Amino acid sequence: MVTMSDAETDETAVDPAAELREIAARVRTQLEVRGRSGLQGVSRRPSRRVAAAPPVESAVAVVHAHDRNTSGESAGAAPVGARGLTLVREEIGDCQRCRLCGGRQNIVFGVGNPQAHLVFVGEAPGADEDQQGEPFVGKAGQLLTKMIEAMGYRREDVYICNVIKCRPPGNRNPEPDEVAACEPFLKKQLAALRPRMIVTLGKFAAQCLLRDDTPISRLRGNFRTYEGVSLMPTFHPAYLLRDPSKKKEAWTDLKAVNAALKRLGFEPPQTPAA
Ligand code: URA
Repeated sequence: MVTMSDAETDETAVDPAAELREIAARVRTQLEVRGRSGLQGVSRRPSRRVAAAPPVESAVAVVHAHDRNTSGESAGAAPVGARGLTLVREEIGDCQRCRLCGGRQNIVFGVGNPQAHLVFVGEAPGADEDQQGEPFVGKAGQLLTKMIEAMGYRREDVYICNVIKCRPPGNRNPEPDEVAACEPFLKKQLAALRPRMIVTLGKFAAQCLLRDDTPISRLRGNFRTYEGVSLMPTFHPAYLLRDPSKKKEAWTDLKAVNAALKRLGFEPPQTPAA
């Protein structure tokens, strides 16, 4: 028989006040993450759970529609900017489309300026990102932030996201079915952002977006095109942490990005490092 004192000392007994505090803390974290992600408001719609990834509209039409009006939306196309990102995030919902949902703490959607002309795309969240709900916040993320700052931007001037939105266990490589389930949302996210330049970080993101299995050592440094947008593959900051001698090449790539953006009329808010 469970006596009162047994229940009081039972570690699994639920304290409703503590549970409420925890829920409030989680809601607060989610609202902060949403704010940093460039997402608008909180949806009143219940999140949808669908069995299979929905068909992907071609992002080309949206990316090519450079007829932004003052609200940041383009006539006749899918919503762009913050509103577009919100819709993509809502469509992801409480995603159960692949097995990664089982081990995640947070869906790591993306962070930054919804009007950014420069977007960085990595592979998938690690442990720190999963915990905080924000991409590139661990050691590799700190190096990425330094790289962005060396280009003359702040993290909040650009947009940062990953191909895969949930952490693969033990940071293993994402499986093809996980990529198939998640990549359509990156495509829609990029269509909503309409950047002028995408920088892919590491082999996985470059090979995935370009459908090209050339080694990253040969992909990097060469401009390509993704859905009508210029794309520069460069090394992943985690790789640069392992082999700092490669930082020089990564910096060459980022300087080429700045030069190309300058030709398009986009300059960073701060003077880039030399
Ligand atoms: N590595 C990635 O590719 N993405 C992150 O968000 C963190 C580490």
